Amino acid sequence: MERTLSLIKPDGVAKNLIGEVIKRFETAGIKIVAMKKMQLTKSQAEGFYAVHKERPFFGSLIDFMTSGPIVAMVLEGDDVIAKNRKLMGATNFKEAEEGTIRREFATDIEKNVVHGSDAPETAAFEINHFFNNMEIVG
Ligand code: UDP
Repeated sequence: MERTLSLIKPDGVAKNLIGEVIKRFETAGIKIVAMKKMQLTKSQAEGFYAVHKERPFFGSLIDFMTSGPIVAMVLEGDDVIAKNRKLMGATNFKEAEEGTIRREFATDIEKNVVHGSDAPETAAFEINHFFNNMEIVG
């Protein structure tokens, strides 16, 4: 059994896609073991995306991620990191497969609706960034 962090980014929340995204997880047999809506501070967003801090898009990404509320979730299931990435689609919605969340709802490479951890180590770091053990209910 694996866990991963999912975020519905500010554009997804603003477009009323919370239910749509959750429905896709549940339909795929993925269990939501923690969930909260929150407004990220600049330092929380910078800490979360620290690996990207030298990239040219970093400043804009932080502005975007703090522009409105997000929904953070911990997902659980067999191979859930890869399953979630498949449901999300490629970072750039233009390259994302038909039927994926990003292909259907993203409007540009930055405002791409969802985040999902990409490996077990990043999942552990990212889950810990948002949730403590008492907030995760299997
Ligand atoms: N991003 C961006 N421009 C780029 C690449 C990424 O604005 O050229 C943003 C986008 O919101 C992406 C996030 O930075 O989701 C993190 O990038 P990463 O390469 O980790 O993609 P992801 O894992 O989210 O698919």
